[in-house]
Amino acid sequence: MSIKYLEEYRDPELARRLIDRIHQISSKPVRLMEVCGTHTVSIFRSGIRSVLPDGISLVSGPGCPVCVTDQSDIDAFIAISRLDRVIVATFGDLIRVPGTDSSLQAERACGRDIRVVYSAMDALDIAKQHPDKRVVFLGVGFETTAPTIAATVLTAKAAGLTNYLVYSAHKTVPPALEVLVTAPEVHIDGFILPGHVSVILGSNAYMFLKTVHHMPCVVAGFEPADILQAVYSLVSQIHAGKPEIDNAYPRAVTPEGNPKAISVMNAVFEPVDAAWRGIGTIPGSGLKIRAEYALADAALQLDIRVPEPVIPKGCACGDILKGIKIPPECALYKKRCTPVNPVGPCMVSSEGTCAAYYRYYSQ
Ligand code: SF4
Repeated sequence: MSIKYLEEYRDPELARRLIDRIHQISSKPVRLMEVCGTHTVSIFRSGIRSVLPDGISLVSGPGCPVCVTDQSDIDAFIAISRLDRVIVATFGDLIRVPGTDSSLQAERACGRDIRVVYSAMDALDIAKQHPDKRVVFLGVGFETTAPTIAATVLTAKAAGLTNYLVYSAHKTVPPALEVLVTAPEVHIDGFILPGHVSVILGSNAYMFLKTVHHMPCVVAGFEPADILQAVYSLVSQIHAGKPEIDNAYPRAVTPEGNPKAISVMNAVFEPVDAAWRGIGTIPGSGLKIRAEYALADAALQLDIRVPEPVIPKGCACGDILKGIKIPPECALYKKRCTPVNPVGPCMVSSEGTCAAYYRYYSQ
């Protein structure tokens, strides 16, 4: 059953048919992980959990880029904001993430020049407007955002703009999936793969999950019928004992992805080992600015001194990002930790699992 057009993937009748089919073939308990934070929010908003058979558990994974950013990187962002003659440009979600001894929001209240931007191109414009200052864009995100940020580095170099820098805390999704699929404490029967990342990478990027790990997978869009189609695909694969990399989002995702975006990303960045919050260091899962663009690399050009990182006591973000716990199992959830006073990043970000539970889960 292919979903191609707008009216089809918002069609209640199609949703009902998919729900019926899922119930017909669901025969045993399964745990399906949605890797993308946008899927997490969409699943909650549409109430999909409530229409699935009891045996199907949807668990959230490490798909919120702000949430997986390591505490040491959050501390580095804060340290950068304290440097003289520096303007920090960042996406909004990062502002309220608590670091070890402060947050960007607290630093801004102290007078640091921290500006929320909607794209890295806005940061580039700020650099053009302030040639006497260094403008540092905080690069957080997956393969979805890395190409556009790479494009700003190329543009700045071509324009001879030397006061535009990027602190790259980017992460790549496939290495994290490899860790999750092999971690003994994480029990997943299938992955709902991220739609946005897959637009760039293409569905073929996950083939190792089928050939090496025999893990049922499906690339999914974000409408309710997209997600139901994905659940149906995974339960079908599990039922048949035939793992696949199914592409249930063909209106946006091709097998090869977006070669132009990949080429721009690879021109500026190279793989590096990266620390993920709660997961640890994953080999080759980060993106480092290549030596050719070293003048734009904030990690190299700035004197960034960070404290020994301290994770907020009691915060279970690490286990939540691995799908081992759900937010109500965190002792701080809805008590010390709320969207107004977040303790961990999973309660800050609009794509964070704790924030989604807080907003949509009634217990
Ligand atoms: Fe961390 Fe708050 Fe989520 Fe608990 S509820 S895991 S403290 S963000």
